[in-house]
Amino acid sequence: MKYALVTGGSRGIGRAISVKMVSLGYPILVNYKSNEAEAMQTLSLIKEAGGSGELLPFDVSDPVQVSDALGKWQDENREATVEVLINNAGIRKDILLMWMEDSHWNDVIHTNLNSFFYVTRFLIKNMLVNKYGRIVNIVSLSGLKGLPGQVNYSAAKAALIGATKALAQEIGKKNVTVNAVAPGFIRTDMTKDLNEAELKNLIPLNRFGLPEEVAEVVCFLASEKASYITGEVISVNGGLYT
Ligand code: NDP
Repeated sequence: MKYALVTGGSRGIGRAISVKMVSLGYPILVNYKSNEAEAMQTLSLIKEAGGSGELLPFDVSDPVQVSDALGKWQDENREATVEVLINNAGIRKDILLMWMEDSHWNDVIHTNLNSFFYVTRFLIKNMLVNKYGRIVNIVSLSGLKGLPGQVNYSAAKAALIGATKALAQEIGKKNVTVNAVAPGFIRTDMTKDLNEAELKNLIPLNRFGLPEEVAEVVCFLASEKASYITGEVISVNGGLYT
């Protein structure tokens, strides 16, 4: 059995990716941290879309939880392999650098960046052995241009873009691709405190994006059709660059 794992699949962009991924024929492993009710809702939507899946809760920022949960799943599913990995889970803790506490910095770096390392390191071995895999990292416009008030988040996402490009070169020969998708402003819980009516004036397409619009690109990169694209960062931002 070949699976797709979506970290942070309980809500927002991760939910849209999980549901869209059904069209690629994979059973979906829906990771989340604590919001079981929302994760169950994602699972229902996967089933409504004609797919199947299971919940796999763990904190992506905790290396022990990552290896325990994935190790247990692999022990219980010895023939199974995760062929598609979407590193999507993320948080923001925006604050000006001069007020930033260690926890603001560390929580954002651990959840948005270190998580990529822990989860990918665990799953990559099977992809290399099977000579097939797709890894898509969800980064951000903030990691491409830097955004004031988000020094921690911009740093994490920019580092993840660097990691995407480096890993793509490391494992391309094994037919495993690694790409990143960089959303701009997307309507999810993460942006519900932002003033869309005001911010949309900065965006050429004059609105925030929908999670489904990000999921389309992610699923293309996760498909066999994207066989000659690796180390790339694709923006989904309504034309907002500077
Ligand atoms: P949401 O806040 O809507 O959802 C976040 C998801 O990540 C939830 O499923 C949450 O699980 C999960 N999560 C958070 N922390 C952890 C953790 N430690 N371990 C496991 N899961 C965790 O976010 P979005 O959908 O908006 O964002 C998804 C990704 O897209 C993030 O990487 C974000 O940085 C990026 N992005 C978003 C943009 C936007 O405008 N929305 C713009 C650019 C990038 P739970 O439900 O259990 O809390």
